[in-house]
Amino acid sequence: KLTKINTNLDQLVIQRTKDLEESNKRLSMLSFKDPLSGLWNRRKYDETIAAEWNRCLRYQKPLSLLILDIDYFKELNDFYGHMVGDECIIKVGQVLKGSLRRSSDMVARYGGEEFIVILPETVKEEAICIGETLIEEIASLKIPHEKSPISDWLTVSVGASSVIPDKSSSYEDLFVLADKVLYQAKDGGRNQLVYLSE
Ligand code: GH3
Ligand code: MG
Ligand code: MG
Repeated sequence: KLTKINTNLDQLVIQRTKDLEESNKRLSMLSFKDPLSGLWNRRKYDETIAAEWNRCLRYQKPLSLLILDIDYFKELNDFYGHMVGDECIIKVGQVLKGSLRRSSDMVARYGGEEFIVILPETVKEEAICIGETLIEEIASLKIPHEKSPISDWLTVSVGASSVIPDKSSSYEDLFVLADKVLYQAKDGGRNQLVYLSE
C-alpha cells in the first residue's frame, strides 16, 4: 500500500514540476515582450544584440542596426489623442515585423515610439535598402497626421549603421553610431534614412 502511495506521489511531483517549468517559460517569454505592440522589448534587444555581436565577431561577419523613430509623434498624440497614438505604434510594429525576411533579423520596441532592428550578416547596402523600404512601407500605410509639418501621413526617420565587429569595440558603439545619425535624419528634415559606419 505504501509503495503505491509513493509511486502516486512521485508521479504527482513529476507532473507539478512539468507544470512549473511550463509556466516559468511562459513568464520569461512575457518578460521579453512589449505588451502594446507584441514586439520584443528592450531587454530582449539587449540579450540578442550581445549574442549577435559575439557571433559576428567570431565569424567576422557584418552586423547592421537600424533605429527608427516616429516623426512628430508628440503632435499626433496631442491632436488625435493617446489611444490613436497607441494604434499607430501597433501598426508601425506590424509593418516592421512583417517586413523582415531572415529568421535571424529581429525587431524590438526600444522605447516609446522608437524601434530597433538587428540585421546580422547584413552589409551596408542591404541595411540601407531594408531601412528605406521600411520608411516607404510605413508612409504607404497613410496614417493621417494633420499636424505633421512634412507630410499628410505618419512618417519615420531612421539611423543606420554597420560594422564587422572587432575586439576593441562593442555593440554599444554600433548603437551610438545609429543613434547619432538618427538625429541627423531628424535635423535633415525627417522621413529619411541616414547611414554612418566607423
Ligand atoms: P521627433 O520628430 O523629433 O521624433 O518628435 P516627436 O514628437 O516624435 O518626439 P518626442 O520625443 O518629443 O515625443 C515622443 C512622444 O511619444 C511623447 C510621448 O508622449 C509619446 N509616447 C511615448 N510612448 C507612447 C505610447 O506608448 N503611446 C502613445 N500614444 N504615445 C507615446
Ligand atoms: Mg523618440
Ligand atoms: Mg519621435
